[in-house]
Amino acid sequence: MLKSSGIKIVATLGPSINNEQMIENLILSGTSMFRVNSSHSTPEEHKTSIDLVRKVSKKLNTNTAVLLDLQGPKIRIGELKEPIELVKDTEIFLKHCNEHSQNIIPVDYAGIAKDVKTDDKIYLDDGKLELKVISTDGTTVKAKVVRGGLLKPRKGLNLPGKTASLSAITPKDIEYIKRAMEWNVDYIALSFVRTSEDVLKAKHCMEMYGGYIPIIAKIEKPEALDNFNEIIKLADGIMIARGDLGIEISAENVPSVQKRLIKASNAKNKIVIVATQMLETMIEQPIPTRAEASDVANAILDGADAIMLSGETSIGKYPLEAVKMMTKISRNLEENNIIRHNYYSRKMAEFDNHEAFAMCQAMISMLDNLPIKAIIAYTTNGYTPALLSKAKPSVPIYALCNNKIVCNQLNLCRDVIPVHYNWHQEISEKSIAETNKLILKQLGLKNGDKVILTGVVPYIPGQTTNFIKLHTVS
Ligand code: PEP
Repeated sequence: MLKSSGIKIVATLGPSINNEQMIENLILSGTSMFRVNSSHSTPEEHKTSIDLVRKVSKKLNTNTAVLLDLQGPKIRIGELKEPIELVKDTEIFLKHCNEHSQNIIPVDYAGIAKDVKTDDKIYLDDGKLELKVISTDGTTVKAKVVRGGLLKPRKGLNLPGKTASLSAITPKDIEYIKRAMEWNVDYIALSFVRTSEDVLKAKHCMEMYGGYIPIIAKIEKPEALDNFNEIIKLADGIMIARGDLGIEISAENVPSVQKRLIKASNAKNKIVIVATQMLETMIEQPIPTRAEASDVANAILDGADAIMLSGETSIGKYPLEAVKMMTKISRNLEENNIIRHNYYSRKMAEFDNHEAFAMCQAMISMLDNLPIKAIIAYTTNGYTPALLSKAKPSVPIYALCNNKIVCNQLNLCRDVIPVHYNWHQEISEKSIAETNKLILKQLGLKNGDKVILTGVVPYIPGQTTNFIKLHTVS
């Protein structure tokens, strides 16, 4: 087993890894969460994959999480009789219809000809092909090919900033939210979020089904950047979905946006995942480009909780090597002391829970002044370890948690190692003796090691972090 590093790794499920042995190897190599992409495969296949992850996680006694990524309002080209070559400077027509006829390319979005206007850009196939709108009559769009190439059926279509009439949560997403509840997934990702209303809609939908799953808002539209402050208030975390984002705002804008969003999410105590093309060439090659290795390192240094693999694990030839590479890059940064530890990127006045924040700040400053080996947080809903995680502490945070679902969710927080454990709701000689036993047996610490014990003990509903104890393991 590769020694774990603080960063969390998300691997997308797909044909390359959908078997027990591979999932086991991926977990042992550092995967903290698997992503199920509802854009591909059937619900039955998704359920089988999730069951497989749960089975292996149980066998290995890990808290491996599962994220269900909803497709959202992705616009696609319809079926084509055969791929068509779009030639630069020629004119083509786009229309909402089912049939590909001469010169008319079918699109699966009814609002296409209403949402665009003259001179708007349209991107096809992840931005490889580009069109410019000449005119629209409300039914058919006439466009000029700016960047040509071969257009294959069912490829994605992007209209940057132009999808006002699309609902963020489609009927297919609603079906999947219901399934996510039945399947007990740990997180849901919402695609193409534009406003906080989109997050609210998903919350209402979950309420209707009588439950709640933490929401990761995928930031991939310019509107989401405009409305980010409102979105981050309502979402439990974000994913910087650089694939679609890079088409919508152009690749050169992605690095600065990535840095800004990571900082803003950390300041608001929300999870942040950096996704897409991190080790893209490893879909075909056993080693990454040096630029890709640097991209992974930079996302870690920027302060992300998690980094995500998409095609590298779902359809790639080297899924295990890709996860191992991420783990090794992260460990290398730790070993070379490059990561800035023990630092909150915000001030007390900016945070709504002053008591918890002051307690966590106190613990973080203890790390700089005493030879502490770990923070051990007794937790019920994960609040204290998640807040501590945002300071990127120089020691691991062991979250002793009596709730298995919360354990899985905490597995996405950087530097947090959740341990499913029924702790005593008091601090007494007996409870400390039991914690000592667990520390020595399961956490790899030794007699004489200093640790911080913290949490909400005794547990009082509604209260957050209410004790800190410096403890010597014995
Ligand atoms: C992305 O666009 O970067 C992304 C993660 O979303 P998807 O994989 O659903 O396209």
